[in-house]
Amino acid sequence: MKLVSMGARKALYSLLGLIVAATTPATALAADEVVVYSARKEHLVKPLFDAYTQKTGVKVKYITDKAAPLLARLQAEGKDSPADMLITVDAGNLWQAAEKGVLAAIQSKTLDSNIPAHLRDPQGRWFGLSVRARTIVYATDRVKPTDLSSYEGLADGKWKGRLCLRTSKKVYNQSLVAMMIARLGEKPAEKVVAGWVQNLAVAPFSNDTKTMKAIAAGQCDVGIVNTYYFGRLKKKQPDIKLALFWPNQKGSGVHINISGAGVTKNAKHPQQAVKLIEWLSSSEAQNIFASLNMEYPANTAIEADKVVKAWGDFKQDQLNVAKAGELQVKSVMLMDRAGYK
Ligand code: FE
Repeated sequence: MKLVSMGARKALYSLLGLIVAATTPATALAADEVVVYSARKEHLVKPLFDAYTQKTGVKVKYITDKAAPLLARLQAEGKDSPADMLITVDAGNLWQAAEKGVLAAIQSKTLDSNIPAHLRDPQGRWFGLSVRARTIVYATDRVKPTDLSSYEGLADGKWKGRLCLRTSKKVYNQSLVAMMIARLGEKPAEKVVAGWVQNLAVAPFSNDTKTMKAIAAGQCDVGIVNTYYFGRLKKKQPDIKLALFWPNQKGSGVHINISGAGVTKNAKHPQQAVKLIEWLSSSEAQNIFASLNMEYPANTAIEADKVVKAWGDFKQDQLNVAKAGELQVKSVMLMDRAGYK
């Protein structure tokens, strides 16, 4: 062997590889692994993947990154992409991925029955796996819940100098406003957003936690946040004088969004990817998937975690979350016109 040069050895190995590939049935190669690109952080997905591997023997390889770089990577890799599946947060991002053509349309009776229709792509390219509620948070020592009613109500002059918001650059707010456009129409939605801007106590914050801390500190009295950030803050500061309010209960319901998944167009193990998404939608996985981040299970047969349930039941918006993607550009332009930074 010592006489075999490096180049020759490489050639020999790749020849051996070809022989193995040619003589091994494709199904056997494809059967035992699935590759996931996840914009959901590692600590939120690893316990699930580990459980899945333990149950099925299927290896789950994954990388985690933010949504935009993962999407860019999928596009750049094209046919050579090793990814079988994309997990990301926000319907706006899932919609973008589908629009950019990196997701395959799949049909699954299991997913159709486990995931409510408004939480999945009508064309089957992505499926919501957890529900996040973006709701009103208020200072319990300065606001009575009876003072509150709806997102639109926060545009009322009585909240002048009392409202705190996160930046309009965040996709969560783009989705919130997009869904408002879908419900109210563009002009009325713009009036609401302009009203919010009028009522701002301080410039928008970079994240939901800062928004809540400003409310607790008395810089403002009300804001709009995702409930799991409230849960996290409450865990750290149980005595913080903040509470959640469920708006629009007499109308459209609380604005919700999803984290979800889709099979990639160039998947090398598409069947395995479908099976993994199906399992993630099952009662076995849904509990872990949602409770790891204090979210709500997408599968309505499963109850939310105890801590989450204690925040109370609410009616959620039934409009398909795909609208958040479809109207994202309009939403961004509207917020810009309304002066929402
Ligand atoms: Fe978040």
